[in-house]
Amino acid sequence: MKLSKRSNSIKPSPTLAIDARAKALKAQGVDIVNFGVGEPDFDTPENIKEAAKRAIESGFTKYTPVGGTDELKEAIIEKFKKDNALSYAKDEVVVSCGAKHSLYNIAQALFEAGDEVLIPAPYWVSYPDQVLLNDAVPVIIKTEEENSFKITPELLKANISGKTKALILNSPSNPTGCAYDRASLEAIAGTAVKNDFYIISDEIYEKLIYDGFSHISIASLGDEIKQRTITVNGLSKSHAMTGWRIGFAAGPKNIISAMTNIQSQSTSNPASISQKAALEALKGSQDFVPKMVSEFDKRRLYMIERLNNMKGVSCLRPVGAFYAFPNVSSCYGRRFNDKMISSSFDLSSYLLEEANIAVVPGGAFGDDKYIRLSYATSMENIQKGLDRIEAALSALK
Ligand code: PMP
Ligand code: GLU
Repeated sequence: MKLSKRSNSIKPSPTLAIDARAKALKAQGVDIVNFGVGEPDFDTPENIKEAAKRAIESGFTKYTPVGGTDELKEAIIEKFKKDNALSYAKDEVVVSCGAKHSLYNIAQALFEAGDEVLIPAPYWVSYPDQVLLNDAVPVIIKTEEENSFKITPELLKANISGKTKALILNSPSNPTGCAYDRASLEAIAGTAVKNDFYIISDEIYEKLIYDGFSHISIASLGDEIKQRTITVNGLSKSHAMTGWRIGFAAGPKNIISAMTNIQSQSTSNPASISQKAALEALKGSQDFVPKMVSEFDKRRLYMIERLNNMKGVSCLRPVGAFYAFPNVSSCYGRRFNDKMISSSFDLSSYLLEEANIAVVPGGAFGDDKYIRLSYATSMENIQKGLDRIEAALSALK
């Protein structure tokens, strides 16, 4: 029996696949340093875990409303007001099983055959595949390191057609760690309003910012852009809650209602217990967040400096997220024994096999000149891993 064309058009998430491989090698006793997956190494804060325990003990273990409980939606509305200067009503908010699920529901609700969806590259791995899964066409727009990997109004305009349905914007960005300032967002918003397409704004890394950067939600720039924007966020990164699977989206009522219907026919509500945990994450003490960010900041500065001191490697200083995205293309064309390194995939395999380091090839994010290293791991691991990368790169002839 044949599988659907749709399922054949996509691949497994490369970031999750590399993480699985690194974890399997570790389980076999290999001393792997895992710079692969983007997941905080911090444990979920105790007050959040306690809230989940209370949910279980009090029997809060049944179906909830499909799009999330009223109390959680109210806390999300409060968050948008406080952090993002955005005001939403309850029917403009939906809670899903992770931000990835919110993004997928948006793709289901908006896209159909023939639609074009603009995706600046380097992009997060799931965007093009979610577009393909919904029969639309990803239009990849390559951005340049010299411009901090930001899309310019000129680049954007050159890729707009009568079929353009949406732009997927991710600031701060996975994998580059770059982020958009107000002026760049205003230019993009103006173009979206003029050409009447949607913005899907993935702001999952908004709390992980450095060097005094301030995060701005594009939807907050005016009514016209707000009507065309669906803002996605979640607790996986900000509160070290990747396994709890809580994400959310806010936007125009008709889109949120379609997403909720889709959810009602696919997953139903996100886990009741996770929703109570999410409520505590949003309303309880926030002391944990700046502590985690300050730890990431130390690791960021150390990793970027070490990478830039390696021969043949250069790395922009990211202002957000927890990734370094060094340009390693000057290693291409060099050899280890009889093996030629010609791409980010070759280099990543070489680092895994010869140096026991897991990284993600830039090719998986749409730019082969780079590799992605997550610094969401201990300083000790970072030091050890970078020593190994340095030795492995200098062994190339
Ligand atoms: N967007 C980006 C850019 C991400 O890096 C991630 C991390 N997996 C997600 C969305 C999804 O996060 P989650 O589903 O865990 O909320
Ligand atoms: N966002 C994380 C990453 O890019 C998690 C993996 C995934 O969801 O694909 O590593």
